[in-house]
Amino acid sequence: MSARIIDGKAIAAARRERLAAEVATLGFRPGLAVILVGDDPASSVYVRNKQKAAVKAGFAGGTERLPAETSEAALLARIAALNADPEVDGILVQLPLPAHIRTQAVIEAIDPAKDVDGFHPINVGRLVTGQPSLVACTPKGVMTLLAEAGVPVPGARAIVLGRSTIVGRPVAALLTLADATVTLAHSRTRDLAAECRRAEIVIAAVGRPELVRGDWIAPGAAVIDVGINRRPDGTLTGDVAFGEASAHAGWITPVPGGVGPMTIATLLENTLSAARARRGKGARAA
Ligand code: NDP
Repeated sequence: MSARIIDGKAIAAARRERLAAEVATLGFRPGLAVILVGDDPASSVYVRNKQKAAVKAGFAGGTERLPAETSEAALLARIAALNADPEVDGILVQLPLPAHIRTQAVIEAIDPAKDVDGFHPINVGRLVTGQPSLVACTPKGVMTLLAEAGVPVPGARAIVLGRSTIVGRPVAALLTLADATVTLAHSRTRDLAAECRRAEIVIAAVGRPELVRGDWIAPGAAVIDVGINRRPDGTLTGDVAFGEASAHAGWITPVPGGVGPMTIATLLENTLSAARARRGKGARAA
């Protein structure tokens, strides 16, 4: 069997185009404020891509670049100002933050109604209890890819590799809400390969280059590779050995060009959804 490639780049581009058309009819421009503290090169690239996509979709707002030595108090004060700004619908503070700033304090300072990254405990709690919420972009993007590819989720045996609060856990919560039977695996899981082989849906989010081998994949399974790992030669690879896994899987996402582009498209969708909810233009479940 040769897997169908789930083209995240094309799916994300189509969704961004639809979103831009919707924004053009709103009568206002949703505002996205992005804050980058310090000059981590990977974060700078992510922020630039998010900003470019936001402008292209017709959003207002911009990126504030703060020096690495910015104090936590100064950052919290900026967030408080953005919380109070009626033109700002979404606030994104790019992670990781410098070590002297408490990440959780920053996340919790953001107004949950403007928390387009979906990291605030209120939004996480609403997600887990099945209420409408702003859902973290990468996990929500994973679900979009499954839906767009036509992968049957209800009743399916799914495994999520990785239990981080930004990817693995929310993906497991979303799959559970979508009626999959979910295994959440991590570095202490015994015989990961055997656990994987039982799954009809495999979501890999471990940050270990090509950990998941072809013979871990059940025939016809859907494989979503969240991992972004840089090889010594500078090229990118996922958490799944793509060539081997493609020979077994029914569907598979490439790296790059799979989950990554969906994360940005979902950020825009979340910002639009937050803007509608805040401005009373028809709140929608995220
Ligand atoms: P974290 O490092 O926060 O979490 C990694 C998880 O994987 C942990 O739960 C860890 O287990 C588990 N793990 C690590 N090694 C193994 C192993 N050998 N076997 C089983 N489980 C293991 O990573 P993130 O969740 O932040 O990111 C995961 C990957 O996704 C990274 O490559 C990252 O770059 C990528 N990513 C991609 C995004 C995108 O837009 N495409 C967005 C966000 C992340 P334990 O809890 O026991 O330590």
